[in-house]
Amino acid sequence: YGGKIVKQMMENCEKHGFNNYTRYPVVFESAKNGYMIDVEGTKYLDFMAGIAVNSMGYDDEDFKNILKDQIGKIIHCSNIYYNAPMIRATELLSKATGFDKVFFCNSGAEANEGALKLARIFGKKSKNGATKIIAFANSFHGRTLGALSVTGQPKYREDFTPLIPDVFFAEYNNFDSVQKLIDDKVCGLIMEPIQGEGGVIPADVEFMKQIRELCTKENIMLIFDEVQTGIARSGKMFAFEHLGMRPDVLTLAKGLGGGVPIGAICADEKFARYFTPATHGTTFGGNPLATRAVEYVLSRISQKEFLENVKNSGEYFIEKFEILKQKHPMIKQIRGKGLLIGLVIDEKFSVADIVKKSFENHLLILSAGNNTLRFAPSLTITRDTIDKGLEILEKVLNSIEKA
Ligand code: PLP
Repeated sequence: YGGKIVKQMMENCEKHGFNNYTRYPVVFESAKNGYMIDVEGTKYLDFMAGIAVNSMGYDDEDFKNILKDQIGKIIHCSNIYYNAPMIRATELLSKATGFDKVFFCNSGAEANEGALKLARIFGKKSKNGATKIIAFANSFHGRTLGALSVTGQPKYREDFTPLIPDVFFAEYNNFDSVQKLIDDKVCGLIMEPIQGEGGVIPADVEFMKQIRELCTKENIMLIFDEVQTGIARSGKMFAFEHLGMRPDVLTLAKGLGGGVPIGAICADEKFARYFTPATHGTTFGGNPLATRAVEYVLSRISQKEFLENVKNSGEYFIEKFEILKQKHPMIKQIRGKGLLIGLVIDEKFSVADIVKKSFENHLLILSAGNNTLRFAPSLTITRDTIDKGLEILEKVLNSIEKA
């Protein structure tokens, strides 16, 4: 794969970079019209958007110009001062989420770290020193030690134990398993409204209603990790809107900056007030370049047509997948919402092989959980691009079935 120059570039990366990623043999340089383009000019159709990040696509000239404008003004400003884009983005995100308060950080894991600290400080100050956190099997919340401590997948955790204490795992969509863990020492519960990495598994509406009632009754801070599902990915601004309830705390990242790294914690004053000066902070949080991106992303996404388009594109994908499922019994189930879609593949076939073969045919897709293909394209994807990508996917499924 790749010519001499590409091979040399990859070798340099392996030599000088940490070898903690299993990478596909391609060096990307640019992107256009729904395609990622490598250093040799080869185009790959993109159904994964940098793992649910490049929500605006790659061709939004207004977005690029706004970022250029901000670079011309100022890139970084310390949090010991206010900065203008940060103030505007804070107000916009507070309005978009309906939460009183917003804290900006730099990634999904960091947003979850902050939310866990908020649960702990709430427990210390207002719940007789309660420290227990409930999380879920098969969840994914990030790679830092705190986020890993609430990530319910042994493969990510086992090399790093001991992790933070007082974390207990329940079974997703099983209310009894949650109830069994409740006592007056529980300060927080963290969960994804759709388990993304875990296999694109949506939470049941009834289960969520019970969780909401339980957390209110027991005075437990309910944290929704919407790092992957938030910012219109699910066809609504936030996935909790599908569930007819609201968490107490919301964490965001990925699509929030449209590709510029930024995360956020949103909470009502009832919980946000526990972060007083010096309890929490981060050098880059609220960085003017990143918050200028947030400002743009939020103003775009809050347009009715934008969300309509995400919903329509998601429905179009599902329609097409239903047809594909009829033709290919290896597809066992289609699940997800908006433009976060999983295809559960028969265990007889390897999802890793499908992803690899798709790559070799210049289609970028993801896997998730146990034998699930995951699709998380740009939110601006067109029908034409969907059709082209699915043509490649069908060819790949055909060849894998025949092999
Ligand atoms: N939470 C969820 C639900 C995620 O899907 C991810 C990343 O995949 C994270 C947290 C971690 O985010 P980051 O990689 O930005 O730290």
